Amino acid sequence: MFEKCEAIVIRAIDYGETNKIVTFFTREWGKVATMARGAKKPSSRLSAVTQPFTHGYYLIQRSRGVGVLHQGDIIDSMRTIREDIFTAAYASYIVEMTDKVTEEQQRNPYLFELLLQTLQYMNEGLDLEILACIYEMKMLSVMGIPPKLDHCAVCGRTEGKFSFSIKEAGFLCHRCEKTDPYRIPLSAASVRLLRLFYYIDLSRLGTISVKEETKKELRAVLSSYYDEYSGLSLKTKRFLMQVDELKKIGYPYQNQTENGSGG
Ligand SMILES: [Zn+2]
Repeated sequence: MFEKCEAIVIRAIDYGETNKIVTFFTREWGKVATMARGAKKPSSRLSAVTQPFTHGYYLIQRSRGVGVLHQGDIIDSMRTIREDIFTAAYASYIVEMTDKVTEEQQRNPYLFELLLQTLQYMNEGLDLEILACIYEMKMLSVMGIPPKLDHCAVCGRTEGKFSFSIKEAGFLCHRCEKTDPYRIPLSAASVRLLRLFYYIDLSRLGTISVKEETKKELRAVLSSYYDEYSGLSLKTKRFLMQVDELKKIGYPYQNQTENGSGG
């Protein structure tokens, strides 16, 4: 029986001469792997609809193992993501993370919406680093490792100057600083943004402009927190760090695609 679903392509690997195994994150059933027969051939009607990051409606025959993809209708091909190496690197990172932390066929409409909205914002050219930070903050509750952001993790007070303690898994006020010599110092802006990113309804995200040194603090907190608590090791994270190095030295590819992508 073929069933219709709304989905995002999160992985597509070649299988045999002409086929692909395509993994979708669906709104209806969570993650689903399917065999897409002939999809490797550019002439196949399944070729375009199985490109990574594509958002569409699909007809799928589910099974306990790998199901069958029958057909697809593209809602958004996320073309800008696929045409820009930096955007693709960030999108690959959040997609791989989603893939790693989810089990097959476990429905999670909240996570589907979060992934879709983040990819749409990336496709529209919003700040990639900020979007990745927001995604990482929100994934902490999905993974069941929420940080303590509402008050000091040690004394519970809400007033004070805060830093972040990996050991205590949350904010530390100035009175409790001594409990963690490895605490990460934070500006008031970073404290506010970490809370905002964790709680914000992503569909209400306006323009956010964040200073470079604030981004550095956010990265330091998230990167250490993930290393300590998530147990994730993502291939795309290393790639992301490499393309960020390219960006810093002004790799010209970025400007070409910014001018030429056209949405
Ligand atoms: Zn305290």
